[in-house]
Amino acid sequence: MNISLVDLVPRYKDERKLILKAIDKTLSKGNLVLTKELDEFEKSIAKYTKHKFCLGLNSGTDALMISLWSLGIGKGDEVITSPISFIATLGAIIHVGAKPVFVDVKEDFNIDEDLIESKITKKTKAIMPVHWAGRMCNMEKINKISKKHNLKIIEDAAQAMGSYYKLKHAGSYSDIAAFSCHPLKNLNALGDAGFIITNKKKLYNKIKIYRNHGLKKRDHVIMFGVNSRLDVINAEVLKIRLKKLKEVISKRTKNINLYRTYLKNNRFIKFLKNEKN
Ligand SMILES: *Cc1c(COP(=O)(O)O)cnc(C)c1O
Repeated sequence: MNISLVDLVPRYKDERKLILKAIDKTLSKGNLVLTKELDEFEKSIAKYTKHKFCLGLNSGTDALMISLWSLGIGKGDEVITSPISFIATLGAIIHVGAKPVFVDVKEDFNIDEDLIESKITKKTKAIMPVHWAGRMCNMEKINKISKKHNLKIIEDAAQAMGSYYKLKHAGSYSDIAAFSCHPLKNLNALGDAGFIITNKKKLYNKIKIYRNHGLKKRDHVIMFGVNSRLDVINAEVLKIRLKKLKEVISKRTKNINLYRTYLKNNRFIKFLKNEKN
């Protein structure tokens, strides 16, 4: 029997009524860009992650790129990151004009914090740790290194919605964190979507304008921006799905425990210890 890793069809059947109602509610209002639905989604994410600010964007890749941009990282700068990630981590660094510098990973596929300092040069501006499969990097150590060398931290938390490190949600040990709501992630939209969280008002204000063409007000442009506003139908759907995130995570945990049980004696497969969040 073939079983796909993530099958979104049965999920849609379960949620069909709720989702269609949300779409109908949003479309009936007529206004479809930067509306109250988006505000509410951002507030609910800020609350869930215990952060001051959240901004909904078009994708996790945009969230990474815009995070780097907001911290002034660009040409001539080096960004330390992990070689084990989805290609978008590298793509984001390349697109702002910076140079990615790899630090090898540990057994859990997360960046080896003990090797980071050996890769720091005069050009290093930031560290971008990736919480692979939602397993958190050693943020305490990475934070210490960043303070010592005056580096920024951008967390690639695309896979880390609902992940905690020492009781604090992903994003709590950095300047800014980027999340993805791609259909295969645990908090997933109806298509592409993403967001950032930060406690820094300055970054929040900057990105809020940048994601909307650099418009401070309707007819007042203060910079050249991009169009990366989270779609409001998705914002409404994500608000509903955020309430079910715990359930989704616990289902995924149950599934991995099945693998652990049935593959326990397979000599080619080694499981890491289960981490309690
Ligand atoms: C999914 C993912 C991204 C990109 O997110 P999109 O929303 O697909 O643009 C970036 N980094 C990691 C680690 C991811 O898993």
